[in-house]
Amino acid sequence: MKKTIGIQIGPDSFVDEGTNKVLDILQQRGAVNTIYLSTFTYDRGITGRQVSSTSLPDHGMLESAERYFHGGNFATPHAQFYKNTAIKGDNLKAPDFGKLDILTEVLPAAKKRDIKVVCSVQDGFNYPDDVPFFKDFAEVDLQGRRSGAMCFYQPDVKEFWKAVATDLCSSYDIDGILLFNERNGPLLNAIGVSHHQGIDSAKVTCFCEHHQKAAEQHGIDFKRAKEGYLKLNQYVQNSLDKKRPSDGYYVEFSRLLLEYPEIMAYNQLFDTGKHQILKEVYSAVKGVRKNLEVGFHIEHTNSFNPLYRASRSYEELATMADFLKVVVYNNCGGERYRSFINNICSTVLRDVPPAEVMLLNNHLLNYANEAPIDELPMAGLSPDYVMRETQRAKAGVKGKSQILPGIDINIPTGKNSRKATPDDTYAATMAAFKGGADGVILSRKYSEMFLANLDAAGKAVRDAAKL
Ligand SMILES: [Zn+2]
Repeated sequence: MKKTIGIQIGPDSFVDEGTNKVLDILQQRGAVNTIYLSTFTYDRGITGRQVSSTSLPDHGMLESAERYFHGGNFATPHAQFYKNTAIKGDNLKAPDFGKLDILTEVLPAAKKRDIKVVCSVQDGFNYPDDVPFFKDFAEVDLQGRRSGAMCFYQPDVKEFWKAVATDLCSSYDIDGILLFNERNGPLLNAIGVSHHQGIDSAKVTCFCEHHQKAAEQHGIDFKRAKEGYLKLNQYVQNSLDKKRPSDGYYVEFSRLLLEYPEIMAYNQLFDTGKHQILKEVYSAVKGVRKNLEVGFHIEHTNSFNPLYRASRSYEELATMADFLKVVVYNNCGGERYRSFINNICSTVLRDVPPAEVMLLNNHLLNYANEAPIDELPMAGLSPDYVMRETQRAKAGVKGKSQILPGIDINIPTGKNSRKATPDDTYAATMAAFKGGADGVILSRKYSEMFLANLDAAGKAVRDAAKL
């Protein structure tokens, strides 16, 4: 079977550089045969020009989009698909490029070149004020405040995501959908076990009435769960204030989990809600056309965090996706992995020096020769990491789903962190194939990639095909 050589790309690139020109570059230089076109998103991770805090690449409009970026549906939403939900998606046309329908623009040109088009659909609202429906469907945090995300157990929300996917698949001759949802459950967020900066354990979600009902249906005592999270919040605040429990940070945390098993159960309930939406979107899409492909983006936290790994199973994810885009971004992975270690060392593992936690964590995660923690941002993670994570995913899905590792090409990093060279990109792409990948998805978006790196990815794809 032909391997999928994909690239993520936002509508901006086609508008800025011209549709045919961009497709030529992708095909000729990057050996790309599938584009993952950011079609429904409010997030500049996969759309928009390069962010202004980092160097702009050598193509496209060399100016940031900060001033005008809004996001939404970059195709044309059709009202009839939103009949089963109070969230009227037909109002969510992205205003960024006027009436432009990015699928109408790109699809014919892509088809002519035999390039597949998969629509990226992302749950991630950074600017809730811009989304008129938002507040009625938002999650409720531990303190009773409405938060910045839509609740998985709100019935209208599930219907909404089905409607977005069904509309795109029914109204256009696309090849599938790639779903993005990087949201984590309350336990993982409370103790800060991701690479994101800042821990706010009082902000964890969701404690809305719909979640309460779901808890009851799953036999979880909602009152106890909430009580457990309030205690966890206190524990985290004390940890951040360096108020060491007499038994130490780790023991105190373990005791909380033993006293409140509802904490774990409630975290899993969050994931169950998230996966239920994936499953239903999968069925809805297959209901439109059997040969449409549905994939799911697996975020970076999956790679660094043993607890996250334990909370998901590749085999289970494979039951709801034709392919999994597994994030193995190795270049920015250095600084992100260090942030993850520092975060966990500010709460549960506060008694252990970060350098030692990292060594232990490397063993737990099956990382081999990575740089010491202080050098990680500059060194990045190695191509060997890309290979190992690809192998793990391949073994995990047991042949039930394709594994398409996401390759880091010029994802923005801090001032003193590694900037990918073409050699880095070549090595990472090659490593994915050595790990048995069914293809790759060059990430996060074309608009932030230097063309020499795209050339290197293309070279790796062509060289790997000869092996
Ligand atoms: Zn909720």
